[in-house]
Amino acid sequence: MPEFLPATPELTEEQQARVSTVLGDLCGVPALGDRYGAIDAVESLSDLATVPVLLKDDLQVALGHLQPRARHGATWVFQSGGSTGSPQVGYAPTGLYMADVFKHWPALDRDDVFVNGWNAGKMWGAHFLVNCFVDHAGCVAMNLGGISRDEYDPWLRFFADRKVTAYGGTTSVLRLVFSHARDAGIKLPDLRKVLWLGEAWDPQLDEDIPIVAPRAARWGMFGSTETWVIGTNTPDCPANVWHPLPSQLVCVGDDEMLDFTSLNPQVLNPILRYRTGDAGRAVTCPCGRPGPAFQVLGRRDHLIKFRGCLLDVDDFVAAVSARPRVAQAQLVVRERHEGDVLEVRLLATGQGDSQLAAQVREHIVGSAFGPSDMFLEHPESLEVLVVESLIGNERTGKVPHLVVRSER
Ligand SMILES: [Zn+2]
Repeated sequence: MPEFLPATPELTEEQQARVSTVLGDLCGVPALGDRYGAIDAVESLSDLATVPVLLKDDLQVALGHLQPRARHGATWVFQSGGSTGSPQVGYAPTGLYMADVFKHWPALDRDDVFVNGWNAGKMWGAHFLVNCFVDHAGCVAMNLGGISRDEYDPWLRFFADRKVTAYGGTTSVLRLVFSHARDAGIKLPDLRKVLWLGEAWDPQLDEDIPIVAPRAARWGMFGSTETWVIGTNTPDCPANVWHPLPSQLVCVGDDEMLDFTSLNPQVLNPILRYRTGDAGRAVTCPCGRPGPAFQVLGRRDHLIKFRGCLLDVDDFVAAVSARPRVAQAQLVVRERHEGDVLEVRLLATGQGDSQLAAQVREHIVGSAFGPSDMFLEHPESLEVLVVESLIGNERTGKVPHLVVRSER
């Protein structure tokens, strides 16, 4: 039986009304009407636990039908996931719900000088979301975006000169920047806060940050483009433990799969027992903050995070396998200190030739969604090989779509 986190308060009347509105919306989606039409009123958490989980594809079907619009301001559309296939979208009103986050997460204050290191563009939400958070904090802010290796030195010097107190980005970006700063002997004595969002914390940062910026501590946000921010943590919490916002209900279902329900009436996406693919469990956070907390155990579906980009392994393999003269494809993620590499292994139909790998690579990099942007910026992160055989399980003969190899 699915269970909400301990210490989750019972549904208020307003929250029951919100659930009822979302259920009504989902009932109106032709492909989902049968599933949601049979549900009686949801008046308690135990009623809510009987509502079926909403999967990623279901949500996209629902959004395609509902086409939500914000009551005030603009309706923003962001995308996540998708690789060579179509992207998954999420809608949000101006402000991206950051007033709620700011109320519960004091990561920045008026005295901070903050550098936003998340890439902007390609409909990715992180950069804009953090800027909305900054609006509430009222600090000084600079939009840097991601930087490449040859830009590290001048920008790190700029951080030191401008007495930057806070810097944020995906952990892939932070890891490269801080390890470079450490190797180059660059110090950031004013840096006190490292904000992170978008992928799991990298333990290497715990080694590098204290040497580069002895006063800096990590402040994390957890969520997705569909759910927006679900929870936050502070330097006193373990990196994979999160405190949900009061408007976000977290439920632990079968196989420790987490699902999320957004009770904020402003929320445009119908997030009702929505399963993102993350597994987790209820925990007590050693920081001592009251209320529910959960630990994230990682993803258990075909979506992986590769250098901060969500990549749908099955979609990717299917799209590459459908290319002319490709018999079968497989992805190998090689985890390396210098940054992970995605190796695309191909079995050719008939005689493979030297052109095939180059053509497939061009197709992957030229597609508009998912990590293609990152492959353009970091060409060394993608390798396409024509091979004699794929990596399989000798006992079962199964060839997985994805193999992960640590070279650290
Ligand atoms: Zn905590």
